Amino acid sequence: MSEKTQRSGANSPRAAGAWEVANRVVSGEALGRSQRRRRGQWEALRTLWDCSTLDRVRACRRTPRGPAVALERRAGRARFTGLTTCGSVWACPCCSARINAERADELRQAVESWHARGGTVALLTLTMRHRRGVALATYWDALSPALAASLGGRYSRARKAKEAAGAEGHVVARECTHGANGWHLHAHALIFLNSPTPDAIDELGAAMYAAWAARLKRQGLSTPSLRHGVDLRVLNLSAAREHAARYLAKGTFEATRAAGELAGGDGKAARSGNRTPWDVLADLTAKRTPQDLAIWREWESASRSRRALTWSVGLRKRLGLGDELADEEITDDDDEPSELIASLAPEIWRVVRARRHGPSDLLSAAERGSPDEARQGCAQLLKRWASRAGPQPRAGPRRGPAGKEEPRLRPRNAPDGPSASSHAGSGSRAVRHDAQGSGAPRRSRDSANAASRRQTNGATR
Ligand SMILES: [Zn+2]
Repeated sequence: MSEKTQRSGANSPRAAGAWEVANRVVSGEALGRSQRRRRGQWEALRTLWDCSTLDRVRACRRTPRGPAVALERRAGRARFTGLTTCGSVWACPCCSARINAERADELRQAVESWHARGGTVALLTLTMRHRRGVALATYWDALSPALAASLGGRYSRARKAKEAAGAEGHVVARECTHGANGWHLHAHALIFLNSPTPDAIDELGAAMYAAWAARLKRQGLSTPSLRHGVDLRVLNLSAAREHAARYLAKGTFEATRAAGELAGGDGKAARSGNRTPWDVLADLTAKRTPQDLAIWREWESASRSRRALTWSVGLRKRLGLGDELADEEITDDDDEPSELIASLAPEIWRVVRARRHGPSDLLSAAERGSPDEARQGCAQLLKRWASRAGPQPRAGPRRGPAGKEEPRLRPRNAPDGPSASSHAGSGSRAVRHDAQGSGAPRRSRDSANAASRRQTNGATR
């Protein structure tokens, strides 16, 4: 522990211990795997504060919604509340993690509930032929009608095959990668069936392929072969459960090959082969190349307003699930009981977010030791950060000559970004402890919103 550390710590052994923990968190030595992944998420989000074309993403977890940002802890996990969130399942590394965790939980329940009733779940994968130079929007515009056709729209063969296999409904998830042959968009569906015979499964696969291929052709795309275009397989319960969790987990930034590398801080070489959009974002964060920026921006533009996961009409009700929450509702603050670790004034939040690992390191410090130790550790960390923040102007987007925002292609290992505003210098204002926050769990804001969520979410919570 440095001399300065010893001086700035309180005299009690407990406070000194908390400070030591906070110091280890900042140096990265005490971080576990999940905390390192969180560092990667926040670092990628910082890239998007600079580079995203989407206003909501640029503001996500950057801008306070009210007079203070709360740092809370629930079941050992820390989080911030009182920040603007974007609710983007496609473009936000932080919001997508929360959305997909909730969706994966529901899918797992759906699969288990269906198997408990004696039903069968099959996995359908639909892929398109793809080639370099075709815009992602072209593929995406073709995907929705082709999916609708193969899952039983007006094509009577597919509809009859579904009836013969006892299909009760489906859940569809979209996935995308980018590689040497351009964009590759594909879809997976879990199909809920009642005791299908092997012949009925074969016919269902063939009928879905015929409808899929015919619709893609109508959309002007080349027709995939039966072998490469469609795959339909019946899953046992454990495979269905695993798949339900995995194909949503794949849609999160945490699952990228790069997330750990970002947190590790060594800036590995760019990946070769097909990359998920999250891999592209991780590379953009690491290297800030114009090529990755262009790919990412095309992704943002083409995926905007598209659904990631869709349930067929009536299926949720049949499975005993409540109404589906919108992505934005999932990322809203909830009213789950939690312990307040710190309440940060907006100027202090600016100090935190201006540091490369500020938010993620503060979260990690809030998870260390008892709640009181965490409060001590966070308070001293904030005091140190605030005392170091210079009187430079706050970070903000750059505007080009036409008022259009320009990305800052800053090397990822550059020192921390612009410091907080000048009035953040007073360490004594670094943290305010809420009287409610010490000891007993508290209920946070938006209780009306949360109450309506409970109502609409029915049996899922
Ligand atoms: Zn977000």
